[in-house]
Amino acid sequence: MKTKIAIIGAGRVGSAIAYTLAHKKVADEIVLLDIMKDMLEGQALDIAQSLAWTSGTRVFAGDYDDIEGSRIVIICAGVGRKPGMTRLDLAVTNASIVRGVASSVKQHAPHAIIITLTNPVDVINQVVWRATGFHRDRVIGQGGVLDSLRFRWAISKTLKVSPSDVDAYVLGEHGDSKVLAFSKVLVKGKPPKLSVGEKIKISEELDASNENIIKKKGATEFAPAQAVARMVESIIGDKKDVLPCSVVLRGEYGIKDVSIGVPVVLGRNGVEKVEEWALDPSELSTLKRSAEIIQDMQEKV
Ligand code: NAD
Repeated sequence: MKTKIAIIGAGRVGSAIAYTLAHKKVADEIVLLDIMKDMLEGQALDIAQSLAWTSGTRVFAGDYDDIEGSRIVIICAGVGRKPGMTRLDLAVTNASIVRGVASSVKQHAPHAIIITLTNPVDVINQVVWRATGFHRDRVIGQGGVLDSLRFRWAISKTLKVSPSDVDAYVLGEHGDSKVLAFSKVLVKGKPPKLSVGEKIKISEELDASNENIIKKKGATEFAPAQAVARMVESIIGDKKDVLPCSVVLRGEYGIKDVSIGVPVVLGRNGVEKVEEWALDPSELSTLKRSAEIIQDMQEKV
């Protein structure tokens, strides 16, 4: 059977994800959907032609009928934050867009695993979960994998080591209340001795890098695309990677009915297990505070 992936929202991040997945040859078909039809067809054609030498993946522009049989549906439809827009304004606007998308996914691809990107991703992932009625293990928000890539990058810069020698995870909200799990950081397989000053520097470096990308180019594309590719490869390849993903919790970490970034095992069924790590007490209390912030916004959308 052919492996199909659908991407809904073929803007900056949706098209970067399609391009990345197609060149990694993880699927036989990638179908892109968007309400901006000309732009959609242009994106699909541009990506399809980039594959002429390399990949057998078929990339095409489609409609909801074409998402039938998709293993994974990636939701990137929505707007980015515009000047003067609060995070709550963004949540309300994107929740209303995504409710419509989610009900079409439920109708046309009822067995798919959903990966949500639309921001604020934790709140929106909970909206998708409710609107589809899917099991929580099949509705997964992307935020933590990207934040963890950035965390590794910031640690490697501060400690002047290769990023590939750093193992580090960001949990909690994909936003201001994120939790940098310093207690779990390994550098070359060992816990590094980081001073308070170094931790602050790493945290500031991480925040500044994200803000700078948005300020300088208006959106993030390539790093989130790699983050999604890692998740997709783990699901399609049934790799059981432990990755930080936003998932609706059922009491794990003392949190219930909130979608928030926690370490999960990703495999062919989506979230196969929520890992309950023994976090440092201050990290655990920051995670719980992060859940309250998400829940507060969740109740308003
Ligand atoms: P963009 O404006 O370039 O693309 C969004 C696309 O969604 C547009 O092409 C628009 O036409 C489409 N769209 C809107 N309503 C739709 C609908 N009902 N059905 C289908 N398509 C629809 O924006 P972008 O930079 O690609 O970002 C998209 C979203 O993803 C934003 O909310 C952004 O904040 C979020 N994002 C999240 C992450 C993450 O790591 N979670 C990373 C990057 C972007």
